[in-house]
Amino acid sequence: MINALTRLCCLIGHPIGHSVSPQMHNAAFRALGLNYVYVAFDVPPEKLDEAVSGLRALGAAGFNVTIPHKVAVMKLLDELDHSAERAGAVNTVVNDRGLLRGYNTDVYGIRRALGGRELPINKPALVIGAGGAARAAVAALMDLGFRRILIANRTLERGMALADWARPLGVSADAISLEEGRCKAVECGIIINATSIGMHPDTGATPLTSEEMRRGTIVLDLVYNPPKTRLLEEAERAGAIIVSGVDVLVYQGAEAFRLWTGVDPPIEVMRRAAIEALEGYVEDEGR
Ligand code: NAP
Repeated sequence: MINALTRLCCLIGHPIGHSVSPQMHNAAFRALGLNYVYVAFDVPPEKLDEAVSGLRALGAAGFNVTIPHKVAVMKLLDELDHSAERAGAVNTVVNDRGLLRGYNTDVYGIRRALGGRELPINKPALVIGAGGAARAAVAALMDLGFRRILIANRTLERGMALADWARPLGVSADAISLEEGRCKAVECGIIINATSIGMHPDTGATPLTSEEMRRGTIVLDLVYNPPKTRLLEEAERAGAIIVSGVDVLVYQGAEAFRLWTGVDPPIEVMRRAAIEALEGYVEDEGR
């Protein structure tokens, strides 16, 4: 029941129609009986300043930030947590009595999705992509102990910029073309797709085929719509260990939930709600 004491959490982005965060967070609030609500606001870039001031003035408990505002929002906040400074982007903001503090829970989400298993840290890791998600992937791989990272990207200069960022932090990082990435993938212990290749509605696309991957390699696709992408199907065919982007979505959201409420998130409730919302999304599109 929404009443005069209900706390507001939200997403700001542009566009936001594809987001399943409202379903995921509202299911979690309901499951724990917390008097919070989560909504999504489509905020174009020229309205970002006003939107952030408005959320501060309204006393929102916190908000998520998505494309294209993850970097631009940083200068509008009062403090940046180490996680946001490291990732160079903010995806979660906590409003602490008018003080806005920015966090990045994507790195945590990737780390947690890959954790709980033995990782081949002595083998090279392959990250496909060089945008914000790729940077979070590189940071998570460093945290997990990988020391050699190959960054394959369509635009080589962006890959080089990401490798230049990573090297001083103590890893060997090289930028390569997507074609080179396809050849090198069999030598890698872990592969992370951080491009939008394979995302709905282009679900037939994949950055790698089964012949280009090997049995036992860990393959994480950050694309979560559909939950099982063509890349993951190809990886499974090759005998690889697959990890869905839905896991990262759930864990990054769960960490934001914990930051806003101070309460342990109901992970399985959030996962179920996210998957149901994604299934509904695909059905709606098909109509
Ligand atoms: P971004 O900053 O816009 O970067 C997009 C990346 O994809 C760039 O490397 C771009 O290459 C590459 N790319 C796009 N279309 C391509 C194509 N047709 N062929 C080859 N490369 C292509 O976006 P982002 O924030 O990093 O997000 C990337 C993906 O990760 C999205 O699908 C997003 O939904 C997903 N993601 C998922 C989670 C999660 O919780 N699971 C969290 C964050 C992001 P260029 O540099 O050449 O343009």
